[in-house]
Amino acid sequence: MSGTRIRPGWADAPTEVDVLVVGLGITGAGCALDAVSRGLSVLAVDAHDLAFGTSRWSSKLVHGGLRYLANGQVGVAHESAVERGILMEVTAPHLTHALPMLLPLDDAIGRRQAALLRAGIGAGDLLRVAARTSSETLPRPRRISATESHRLAPALGASIRGGILSWDGQLEDDARLVTTVARTAAGLGADLRTRVRVLQLDGAGAVLRDELTGETREVRARAVVNAAGVWAGELVDDVELRPSRGTHLVLRADAVPGLAVALTLPVPGVRNRFLNVVPQQEGLVYVGLTDVPLDGATPDVPEPSEDEIAFLLGTTSAALAHPLAREDVVGAYAGLRPLLRADGHTSDLSRRHAVLTSSTGAVTVVGGKLTTYRRMAQDALDVALRAAGIDARTCTTARLPLAGAAPRAELARLAADSPSPRLVRRYGTDAGLVLAAARGASGLDDGELLAPVADGVPVTLAELIFGVTHEGAHDVGDLLDRRTRIGLVAGDRSRAVPAAHRAFTLAEATVR
Ligand SMILES: Cc1cc2nc3c(=O)[nH]c(=O)nc-3n(C[C@H](O)[C@H](O)[C@H](O)COP(=O)(O)OP(=O)(O)OC[C@H]3O[C@@H](n4cnc5c(N)ncnc54)[C@H](O)[C@@H]3O)c2cc1C
Repeated sequence: MSGTRIRPGWADAPTEVDVLVVGLGITGAGCALDAVSRGLSVLAVDAHDLAFGTSRWSSKLVHGGLRYLANGQVGVAHESAVERGILMEVTAPHLTHALPMLLPLDDAIGRRQAALLRAGIGAGDLLRVAARTSSETLPRPRRISATESHRLAPALGASIRGGILSWDGQLEDDARLVTTVARTAAGLGADLRTRVRVLQLDGAGAVLRDELTGETREVRARAVVNAAGVWAGELVDDVELRPSRGTHLVLRADAVPGLAVALTLPVPGVRNRFLNVVPQQEGLVYVGLTDVPLDGATPDVPEPSEDEIAFLLGTTSAALAHPLAREDVVGAYAGLRPLLRADGHTSDLSRRHAVLTSSTGAVTVVGGKLTTYRRMAQDALDVALRAAGIDARTCTTARLPLAGAAPRAELARLAADSPSPRLVRRYGTDAGLVLAAARGASGLDDGELLAPVADGVPVTLAELIFGVTHEGAHDVGDLLDRRTRIGLVAGDRSRAVPAAHRAFTLAEATVR
């Protein structure tokens, strides 16, 4: 296969490596990148696909840690703000941007509470300063008038007396971040395999099953990192996770007309709990988030409940001049937060990460955030390499730009000159590579490669072909649900299926 070391199945994979990583969500992809960039040989596997688990079901924000500060977790808050700055200014400016967030002040928020909220948001800005993130990257918060609030969010109800405008980071897309981290690791020589499940592991290796052939094999590794997210406890005896579900709604932008900022809306009757209504780049709005303990076994793909959908609709509607209707919901998705059970009590690991060494020597890394994946990987590899006595370079990922990264000014110039600003937004300086790969594989002209793949779906055929030739996509689901996010709206997905099949047909000669 040309152009990629991300492949489905086992064929030709190494049976002895320095580091074996289990799971290719953001944590596992980050661990693979960390290990390979220290000069080690790496095999990283996922039972399904890149970003198959929680990593594609997030709010797609790059958090500055304000929420942790509110809970008194100053260290975690600072770490989050530092990692946000690294992502936005060094490693992934192409995949992140500043998101204006408006907290509207209405009758439900008294003046005293408003003052407290404003002080909290001010403290969040101090975190930015402490993390040395420029105010050009994330502007300072400010109090705004009712008129300006309505200009930024015309759908808000009439009763607001003003708002607090602040800024946080937003991802282009969470699964795109995972794919980019994975492609960066593969570019440095890591061997990444999808459809390879770990059946058993210890500190010296694992038994793997190729999910395409059913064949099982053993791999020996000097260090083993278990980054299997909410499924991590199935692979080691001494880690028990009790997930809780968080659900988002997907709306068309015209359901909340004119929305130029994200809205932060208090949940009535619950202190310090807010929903976010977040506009996306191309015509969608996400509304989240719920928190519902999961009963029973951990599903591969969690489903939102009608109760959660009704709660999100009702709470959002209370802040708007015209309530949302059930028909406004064109999609909904749910992700699972890892809650760790240790020593008989549970603690919320979604706020911080943990690196746990099992008696077998395997190292498990769980919890944390998309935002903090780099630091999680650094901590996990530091522990795993020390325990295995592996002498490797120290971690350099804080200074290692992801594939396609460049300073914002350069990206803006590139987008202005590009036949497809969309490709620059999603692949940065690799936009030209995406188009060249698609041309080379298909022989089609740019007009056809850069046209939307279906009515109202801005994704291009070039992206789908590149997903096959360079990003290890194996089936239609990989292309529509992870390399792109067309699948978040079921109606769009069914209209795009023929384009995904076409991409496989066109790319076939290249990947064989
Ligand atoms: C609803 C929700 C919203 C969130 N929003 C944000 C946000 O806006 N910003 C932010 O920074 N963070 C956010 N987070 C947190 C963030 O999404 C998670 O911390 C992160 O995605 C976890 O990634 P992971 O790689 O550890 O797990 P996962 O993404 O779940 O990856 C684990 C992988 O392991 C694989 N796997 C499992 N078992 C095996 C096996 N036996 N063999 C091989 N592979 C296996 C799975 O297929 C999966 O791909 C949110 C979390 C939730 C739940």
